[in-house]
Amino acid sequence: MTQAAPTVAVVGAGVVGICTALELLQAGYRVTLYDRDEPAKQTSFGNLAYIAAEYSTPLATPENILSALKLTFSDKAAFKVTPDHWIRFIPWAMRFLNAARAPRMAHSQSGLLKINAHAVAAWKDLLKVANASDQLVQSGFLKFWEQATDLPATHRFKVMMAELGQPSELVRNEAVFELEPTLSPQISHGLYFPSGYQLRNTFTTCQKLFACFLAQGGQFQQQDVTTIQPEEQGVMIQVGGSPARFDKLVVCAGAWSKVLLKELGLFVPLAAERGYHLTFPTITDRPRHILESADRHVVLTSLDCGLRIGGFGEYANLNSAPVTRRYTQLSQHLTAILRDINPTQKHETWMGIRPTLPDSLPVIDLHPQHPQIGFAFGHHHLGVTQAAISAKWIVERLQGVNSALKPDLPDTTPYSVTRFGS
Ligand SMILES: Cc1cc2nc3c(=O)[nH]c(=O)nc-3n(C[C@H](O)[C@H](O)[C@H](O)COP(=O)(O)OP(=O)(O)OC[C@H]3O[C@@H](n4cnc5c(N)ncnc54)[C@H](O)[C@@H]3O)c2cc1C
Repeated sequence: MTQAAPTVAVVGAGVVGICTALELLQAGYRVTLYDRDEPAKQTSFGNLAYIAAEYSTPLATPENILSALKLTFSDKAAFKVTPDHWIRFIPWAMRFLNAARAPRMAHSQSGLLKINAHAVAAWKDLLKVANASDQLVQSGFLKFWEQATDLPATHRFKVMMAELGQPSELVRNEAVFELEPTLSPQISHGLYFPSGYQLRNTFTTCQKLFACFLAQGGQFQQQDVTTIQPEEQGVMIQVGGSPARFDKLVVCAGAWSKVLLKELGLFVPLAAERGYHLTFPTITDRPRHILESADRHVVLTSLDCGLRIGGFGEYANLNSAPVTRRYTQLSQHLTAILRDINPTQKHETWMGIRPTLPDSLPVIDLHPQHPQIGFAFGHHHLGVTQAAISAKWIVERLQGVNSALKPDLPDTTPYSVTRFGS
């Protein structure tokens, strides 16, 4: 008699959970995906869909901290803390400052380089499974500056990126507008990274992966998982007041993961870092490339649902309401960045919560005492970028693939769940 395949529950159907659930099915598990919401309706819904594999610098750097302090009260500041959150934010900020120390920064950078190096290939593999390869587009990435006085800093950034294996081309004056005709004449220069990839829209991609998951026999339950209890054999969860048992479980609950980990005796300093977007469905003259304003810290992408501008790193309590002033600020940035734009035309507004750890590395690991429980969360600004590779790695860990025994597999030690102590 053949043995039935082991069962796995995945908690959280954002981009990370959906990729993980599909990867588990491919590995032969019987998978049930849980979300209290519809799939990909939280942070994975409204992001900028940029596969930012170019970005291997952690958020905690002396330059970022200095710039955050200088711009605290400016509308151009990307970094914000809501007034009701300051007291809770201080312990996290102390860890963030600590993560900006040279050896720690080097550790974070090496962890980011390692995971980002596999990001695009992992997306290609997973999209092929869902017959959705057309979702990944190589649009090229253009980071631009408004002041010519920033040219020396731009050169330094270009050299640093080249050293990290990300070559770029400096474009100035007319060459900027030949490359990207939608940009406003006030833009001075830019760095063009032709290797930049994006999804057509993270939400659409999630829908396609989710449809494939269901078609291949995966189960979805729209339920809140309230308790996770490890057992001698497997794991028991409470959903909608009833228990359900599985052989294994993976927590992919984004910014809400901390609560579930606490119950499992683990501590992670996971911050709720909010970002905002405006999406203009009817603008037809859209940028050809993924655009980032170095001065305004906003990103623009052309998606299947319209032109999107997004940004801000706003630290807040998990359940507090959006700060609506941010939408006006995004609208002002858009007017400054693009020529001939009317930001009052029909648009959608959105706020989402990034799961952010002080060292800018995700958690991709197994529970130290209960290895039948895995974790994949904490991807901050890079959740779309790293979703497919995180899914691959956590499934390899759950399968018991040991990187020490198979040196060709990446070492996931930098993404350990216990790295923050208690
Ligand atoms: C403005 C903005 C722009 C961004 N742009 C980019 C970008 O261009 N590129 C990039 O790489 N990243 C980007 N990001 C970051 C990216 O969106 C996130 O890192 C990513 O969406 C996180 O995915 P996730 O699956 O971990 O979390 P989520 O998408 O938040 O999913 C977690 C899910 O878990 C569910 N859940 C939680 N707790 C429970 C429970 N107890 N029971 C049941 N369900 C539960 C939630 O309902 C939710 O659906 C951006 C973020 C923002 C805010």
